[in-house]
Amino acid sequence: MKEIKKILVANRGEIALRIMRSASEMNIKTVAVYSEVDRIAPHVQYADQAVCLGPALSSESYLLGDKIISICKDMDVDAIHPGYGFLSENSDFAKSVYEAGLIFIGPSPESIKTMGDKLAAKNAVSVYGIPMVPGVNRAIDDVREAKQVASQIGYPVLIKASAGGGGKGMRVVVEESELEEQMSRAISEAISAFGDGSVFIEKYVTSPRHIEVQVLGDQQGNIIHLFERECSIQRRHQKVIEEAPSSIFNEEKRSAIGEAAINVAKACGYYGAGTVEFIVDEKLDFYFLEMNTRLQVEHCVTEEITGIDLVKEQIRVAEGKSLTLKQSDLEINGHSIECRVYAEDPKNGFLPDIGNLKVYKRPQGPGVRVDDGFDQGMDIPVYYDPMIGKLITKAKNRDEAISRMIRAIDEFQIVGVETTLSFCKFAIDHSAFRSGKFDTKFVENYFTPEVLNDEATHEEEEIAAILTMHAIDQLKPKSKRNSSASSKNNGNWKRRELR
Ligand code: ADP
Ligand code: ADP
Ligand code: MG
Repeated sequence: MKEIKKILVANRGEIALRIMRSASEMNIKTVAVYSEVDRIAPHVQYADQAVCLGPALSSESYLLGDKIISICKDMDVDAIHPGYGFLSENSDFAKSVYEAGLIFIGPSPESIKTMGDKLAAKNAVSVYGIPMVPGVNRAIDDVREAKQVASQIGYPVLIKASAGGGGKGMRVVVEESELEEQMSRAISEAISAFGDGSVFIEKYVTSPRHIEVQVLGDQQGNIIHLFERECSIQRRHQKVIEEAPSSIFNEEKRSAIGEAAINVAKACGYYGAGTVEFIVDEKLDFYFLEMNTRLQVEHCVTEEITGIDLVKEQIRVAEGKSLTLKQSDLEINGHSIECRVYAEDPKNGFLPDIGNLKVYKRPQGPGVRVDDGFDQGMDIPVYYDPMIGKLITKAKNRDEAISRMIRAIDEFQIVGVETTLSFCKFAIDHSAFRSGKFDTKFVENYFTPEVLNDEATHEEEEIAAILTMHAIDQLKPKSKRNSSASSKNNGNWKRRELR
């Protein structure tokens, strides 16, 4: 058991800040790392100390594991929190961290390795009799064999990269004539994204919902689940809106899927926070997809309904402490929804829309949480994931969480880049979402760019008004300005600057 006194956060943006906030509440010092384009980023300003890693490219900065480890040694750091993406699911990195005598805030390198490979993961959990999507649990590289397997499973099938992540390396095949082309595309996509071209085939579940379970384990072997998250509103097989709990589960289903998730975690001797993803069909039968061995983007909705700070739990488990929570202590309190705010244009195929945040004003008020990594005036760099942040609402029930989200989206003012917020408002207000009857095909079934047109005109008028106000404000002496530009140094930042 080793007490952690200083954490290096090997990440950027909202998740780096999110982690530092919990560390700060635990009286743990923080070290930020950053690339040259992130020099003035909020996570750099928030940390007690900060070190530049190198140029903007991730491969020359945030992915430099050895450099990050040597910074820890120089700065008396005890532990590294990897956040999500970057080095978070790199088992070799986790191993080097341990070998350097440091704590990796996450599971063991072995768990990361097993679960990082979808095929290895399926094989590991098969001993527990966890339901799995029909398919083959081995890599396939021969088209003839692929055709045979696909016709046994029955079309449509999904070709998946074993090393896949972030929705990449996946191809739906509706009929045999498309198989060869889609398979070679999946393989080349997998090689370029993950350096590993292994693919396998599984049944494509029609009308699927993506429902996942948050788990938490300690190094003593205790594992609990913190209920489910519904993540079916996706584009490019990637989540945009998440909620907890799912509106389609009853208590019986909830405990069955929770139990299955705990067994998946047991299958790899899991400790720390992790997520077990399932695909759920129309009959509400669930099938194991994969396990993500890290804190997830959408962890906040679980925190909102359980009142548990997942980052603090991760830190305690990494110190070697046993979980103080028991399954029977946990209960769901209210409902929470998250909208991911990406700098993307929903009217242009959700392509990234990189630029400057000319106006950036967060919503406030009861039940609203914004976890973001930017401030007004900042540029969104082209080098990383274009997520600006997350907007989360919490209320006593789902209907209220929906109304609260719509109100918060209306308050959120972002000028300079297009964002996913307009799409999120459309989706949340849609009868399919409100009634809970939707699946992962929501975007293809209901969304067209035209549905946002009226909205845009209205927004443009508002933006023009904001910009005029802003310009007038800038003419006043500094001490009398009250625009959002001068509120950039909020209380928290001032406190830290004065230290
Ligand atoms: P979630 O954490 O909700 O599952 P995503 O699947 O979108 O969210 O992944 C979170 C982040 O991690 C994204 O920036 C994504 O690009 C990145 N990511 C996820 N899996 C991988 C992977 N295997 N390799 C590289 N990056 C990944
Ligand atoms: P990643 O590692 O990219 O997150 P996942 O296996 O978790 O890959 O799948 C990502 C998304 O792709 C799921 O949320 C779901 O929308 C879709 N998907 C995955 N497997 C299937 C399947 N067998 N049938 C239908 N959709 C699927
Ligand atoms: Mg996944």
